[in-house]
Amino acid sequence: MLHRTNTLVAQRVNGLRVNAARLRADIELLASIGRTSEGALARYAFSPAYEEARAWLKTRMAHAGMAVRDDAAGNTIGRIGPDGGACVMAGSHIDTVPDGGPLDGALGVLAALEVARVIKEAHIELPFAFECVAFIEEEGRFLGRMGSKAMAGVLRQASVEDGMDPSGYRLTEAMRTAGFDPSAATQARRPADDISAYVELHIEQGPVLEQLGVPIGVVEAIVATSHTRITFEGEPDHAGTAPMDLRKDAFTGAAEYACRARELVLKEGTKGQGRLTFGVVDLKPQVANIVPYQVQLLQDIRDVSDAAVAKMVGGTRAIAEDVASKHRLTVRHEHVSGDTAAIMSEHVRAAIHEVAATLGLPTHDMPSGAAHDAQIMARLVPAGMIFVPSAGGRSHRRDERTDWAHLEQGANVFLHTVLRLLADGTVQS
Ligand SMILES: [Zn+2]
Repeated sequence: MLHRTNTLVAQRVNGLRVNAARLRADIELLASIGRTSEGALARYAFSPAYEEARAWLKTRMAHAGMAVRDDAAGNTIGRIGPDGGACVMAGSHIDTVPDGGPLDGALGVLAALEVARVIKEAHIELPFAFECVAFIEEEGRFLGRMGSKAMAGVLRQASVEDGMDPSGYRLTEAMRTAGFDPSAATQARRPADDISAYVELHIEQGPVLEQLGVPIGVVEAIVATSHTRITFEGEPDHAGTAPMDLRKDAFTGAAEYACRARELVLKEGTKGQGRLTFGVVDLKPQVANIVPYQVQLLQDIRDVSDAAVAKMVGGTRAIAEDVASKHRLTVRHEHVSGDTAAIMSEHVRAAIHEVAATLGLPTHDMPSGAAHDAQIMARLVPAGMIFVPSAGGRSHRRDERTDWAHLEQGANVFLHTVLRLLADGTVQS
């Protein structure tokens, strides 16, 4: 019935819109689950707050007429349309970072739920199923994008066994407490022909769309990332008695390294868009009158090109060796984690462009500097992402916000992208 040659049906489908008030109510309700007494939003994967949100979401999905289940990894999935055969999948995540915002992830899941409701209410007979998914553990309490990795078949059982949050709490224990069997997590894998396409609506989490005044971002690729732990070791000497030229000051070396690495990334990044961040710096012994003998840096490098990331990681390593020898330190490099760049499907991107044009909404093609479940799903199936502007570019904080008008526009582009992908049935690229 969704076939585009059927003009009457096509006109009826083209006129569909999300119920913005209903979507807003869901966003506001979910944002109240996991809210601490200080007003922070803390919904960590498999935590009691998360499980409360999961139970709420499942109720909402069931109320929308979806068949609801949790898979073996802990992803929550609602399905409408035929029981068997391939589906178009849409979603995101409902876990948050510490003191996170109400939209990161939640928007994509709740918009997918709204899409299911619109399809149901319009009594559209789907030729293919539509699935709404809340991927478990996107934000990295334990592993990062755990649920999409499990579904795409790239989650290793050893990672599940080793997974630990910053407080030392084990992923296996968290899963058991939430009622999941950690030894079965990899069984969440889906064959590629189970899913014809994946699409995700997400806030941009950056300032670009707002600055351009464009309501819809079409993601071209999600950047490659590399996380390295770099440890400079020197010697603990007295801050007063040790002459400057005889010290082995690990902090001085680390500081020089950070500045030189920054210069390198500014020079070597694709189109000057490489990114370098030292988000964790651990200095020992943290005593005012002792020369620091050890500094650990957690280095995050990102770029749209895998080759550029590899080149920058190699370049920064050479700088670290040079700095270490200059300051008479030793240095260790430890690869912590990394992801290759994910190119979004041409077909899905074209669908988003066409839909936005039909709705009269300007678009901007852009990379995503943040990691997303879509990046993992792109390994399995054709995937695409739609961005909406983030007010002030702010995200991963409690004042994360997007204008409600922008959310509605994004959700309508998302709705019609899903409808178009459902009409296509299968996607080639
Ligand atoms: Zn997210």
